[in-house]
Amino acid sequence: MDKETHLAPYAVRAAYSNGRVHPEAPPVARTEFQRDRDRIIHSAAFRRLEYKTQVFLNHEGDLFRTRLTHSLEVSQIARSMARSLRLNEDLVEAIALAHDLGHTPFGHAGQDALDERMQDFGGFEHNLQSLRVVDLLEERYGAFDGLNLMFETREGILKRCKREAAERLGALGERFLKNQQASLEAQLTNLADEIAYSNHDIDDGLRSGLLNTAQLEQVGLYARHRREVEALMPGIGARRAIHETVRRMINAQIEDAIRTSMTQIDDAKPNSVDDVRRALPLISFSESMRAQTIELKDFLFENLYRHYRVNRMTSKARRMIAELFEAFSHAPGLLPPEYQVKGGDQNEQARRIADYIAGMTDRYAISEHRRIFDMSEN
Ligand code: MG
Repeated sequence: MDKETHLAPYAVRAAYSNGRVHPEAPPVARTEFQRDRDRIIHSAAFRRLEYKTQVFLNHEGDLFRTRLTHSLEVSQIARSMARSLRLNEDLVEAIALAHDLGHTPFGHAGQDALDERMQDFGGFEHNLQSLRVVDLLEERYGAFDGLNLMFETREGILKRCKREAAERLGALGERFLKNQQASLEAQLTNLADEIAYSNHDIDDGLRSGLLNTAQLEQVGLYARHRREVEALMPGIGARRAIHETVRRMINAQIEDAIRTSMTQIDDAKPNSVDDVRRALPLISFSESMRAQTIELKDFLFENLYRHYRVNRMTSKARRMIAELFEAFSHAPGLLPPEYQVKGGDQNEQARRIADYIAGMTDRYAISEHRRIFDMSEN
């Protein structure tokens, strides 16, 4: 069934897709990319996103974003942008919901610690791990490993990739070697990710008390919208004023990105996805909005991501992941049997340890660490 007639000529269409690694009959009541989205939502890795976090740990409070709610916000932002640009909304939804599946517990602290331990075994990178989850690790189908997703969904999941890794990835790695772009849907979801996290981190930062509104006044984008809210709705109360400000910031970024991208698309006139791949990146903020978002990200980096209380958590998390990795690599017999590699291949064993650790939720990693190191646990 063709549900894709409303799409622009430069949008991804299932009819011209590079398809699935294992050929399957087309779905009856859905588009190919809706089927991908459904497979992602039903995966085990997707359910674990609920208990994985970026900045705040899962047990720190019930109101903070988790990777699950973050992924839903990315999907919502990406879909509205895709609709405005007549891009494939089903594809951006699938990419958005899958983009964080390969993240370790404890956000970037976990990823860095695992990457360090994996240096002699090819390293660890969460984008590649997300791809590994959907291509290999999910065990749901009789005929193949992984979810057997469409090429364009997998391409969107693999945001970044180093040369050495790209060389091993065949068609999927090609664009990194040829210096070409991904589809506009992939570019757009990437930008939606950035819009989602920098704005929700303000909200979570304020709620946690690690940031205060006075500090945020030094961020132009925040200050400007805060003034607008105060002028329009004096005396609405602190909580509502924050939300009214943050939602205006999100809208301003989305509207700027749509306007700028539309102009860039009009100028480049791509007539197909192949034209898009050969062009410069066409989805972006205007220069002025880019500068404002950099100011915001720099502020968050200095004041939130490097806050001493976040640093403490980060250092504990790194230590915990490193200790788990060391314990398992010295004694693979401590691993659940499905992660033990028979025959002593060190590379393969290290990769399976990384799979096991990366798959853990924050709270699972904490209790697993206790089970391995604490005599009173079993
Ligand atoms: Mg993300």
